[in-house]
Amino acid sequence: MRRIAVLGCTGSIGSTTFRVLEGLRQQDGQDAWVITVLTAGRRVDELIRLAQQWQPQLVCVADAAAAEHVRHQVHETCRVVHGAAGLCAAVTDVEVDVVVNGLVGAVGLEPTLAAVSRGLSVAMANKEPLVMAGGLVLDAAAAGGGRILPVDSEPSAMWQCLNGERPQDVRRYLLTASGGAFRDRSRHELAAVTPQQALHHPTWSMGPKITVDCATLMNKGFEVIEAGWLFGVGVDQVDVVMHRESIVHSMVEFVDGSVLAHLGRTDMAIPIQYALTHPARRRSTLSALDVVRLGALHFEAPDLTLYPGLALCYDVGRAGGTTPAALNAANEVAVAAFLDGSIGFLDIHTVNQAVVDDWDPVPATDVGTVLVADLHARQLAQQVVDSCRVTA
Ligand code: MG
Repeated sequence: MRRIAVLGCTGSIGSTTFRVLEGLRQQDGQDAWVITVLTAGRRVDELIRLAQQWQPQLVCVADAAAAEHVRHQVHETCRVVHGAAGLCAAVTDVEVDVVVNGLVGAVGLEPTLAAVSRGLSVAMANKEPLVMAGGLVLDAAAAGGGRILPVDSEPSAMWQCLNGERPQDVRRYLLTASGGAFRDRSRHELAAVTPQQALHHPTWSMGPKITVDCATLMNKGFEVIEAGWLFGVGVDQVDVVMHRESIVHSMVEFVDGSVLAHLGRTDMAIPIQYALTHPARRRSTLSALDVVRLGALHFEAPDLTLYPGLALCYDVGRAGGTTPAALNAANEVAVAAFLDGSIGFLDIHTVNQAVVDDWDPVPATDVGTVLVADLHARQLAQQVVDSCRVTA
């Protein structure tokens, strides 16, 4: 029996995880895959429905009022907790083998640290904790016996290409990028794009924050930093290649000139299932990838004038310390401000660049230091958002 905690169960990663688990249960039996923990933010009614279906031992919601409401709707033995402390209890107080972290943003850092410190495997779709504090997460995993399993499709692709290979034989990691919603627009046109347009991703269906990050390529820049931590290399060993079909999910180039690539449909069920069943590959309900029908795949270099956030992520990855945490925090504030209509699309980068330019980094020695940096950067970012709003 495998016991699963799903953090962020009402989001896109959560719903795909349930689809994967239903498929695995059909193959292995109902008792082979059990959900012991479900957590959600605001979509409380959806959480209640899922809790009634999956019968977890613990559920976590955002605040005390929601917890009180949920308590009357779930079975009697289900513990209901809330807030940041509840998220940590969700991975420390219940029997769990694998945590699927589908949280969005910095909120995922502390439960990830708690889980790996306890020796759990964390199937990690939530890249921000690795951007903020990858060194701390990996140190905690090494000390506690836990593991980070990539779920983000690109790092998962690289992980699969590295199967059986020696790390010292890798020359470069090649991250593919679709280019997001605005890949065919000029910089001039980007000034006027709306949140609704930004949320229309050409190849993947995901939550709003990551979809905006795809349009700015900040998501790709964060994946560069994430891959650096996951594979133990500097950001300059990770290159970004534009690939509009999103069929090659990433590649690894070796010292002998070989390049291994992972191809697949644009469905997060593949990396989620691989993280849950590796090294085994299990049947899935997805139809096969028809390479003949695809015909051709295209690759090009990223246009850094269109995507200045990508270069910023490399700078920040090289700077290290608390700078990546500051950039992540700034970006969360900026994306939220763009989505609520407070600032324009190009202002997202203005906010991010201003916070990084102002930033005085210190070594990211402990989680307290990182969280203080996160809070300070949010305040700085909010000031820049307010000034963008005034000039708009
Ligand atoms: Mg990705």
